Amino acid sequence: MFGYGLFDPTFIILLPAIIFAAYAQSKINSTFNTYLRVRNSNGYTGYQVARIILDKHGLQDLPIELINGNLTDHYDPRKRILRLSNAVYNGNSLASVGVAAHECGHAVQHQEAYIPLTVRNTIAPIASIGSQLSWILVLAGLFFGFTGLIDIGILFFSAAVLFQLITLPVEYNASSRAIAMLTDYNLVPADEVGPAKKVLSAAALTYLAATIVAVMQLLRLLILRGRRD
Ligand SMILES: [Zn+2]
Repeated sequence: MFGYGLFDPTFIILLPAIIFAAYAQSKINSTFNTYLRVRNSNGYTGYQVARIILDKHGLQDLPIELINGNLTDHYDPRKRILRLSNAVYNGNSLASVGVAAHECGHAVQHQEAYIPLTVRNTIAPIASIGSQLSWILVLAGLFFGFTGLIDIGILFFSAAVLFQLITLPVEYNASSRAIAMLTDYNLVPADEVGPAKKVLSAAALTYLAATIVAVMQLLRLLILRGRRD
């Protein structure tokens, strides 16, 4: 049984991905904290920028709420609420307006029924259950020598990987919308677009890393499965 534990030799194939994920995490933290100290020259807070963008898109009825935590900012498509963390909501830094505009990008994607977002929201519940259940099924399958269970586990995990993959275009698109909206609505001057972009690119890197980790985990499960035959 030890051969199938978490630290069996196949764990090695995950290592580069895990190191990359750690790098991406430290990159977003340092980039965000750097530009959190740089005030945007218009002095807009994240809340103000979000309100302007949403209103311009006819989303005056979409509420913006304050949420606890650091980098917890998100758009909730089920409740149609934009939630911004304190540093973004009340901050008037380049990081604050960049993140606020990015979350508005998701709200606009939702409004326009942007296809990758629709697909992502549809598979989200299956992916969430799948990622939790898959390892239990795979480990149980390996333990009892029941290949059928392993296959179902891998199938569930594939849904989680698919979710990560479809998240990438959703995130990159929200960031490019954010940059375009910040520029088009004159929310930040041209020379401040670059720094805002840097924050969003660093955030996107964490999604890329999470996807690579998920793909490598799937590969690892397939290797474990292959050993059964
Ligand atoms: Zn996003």
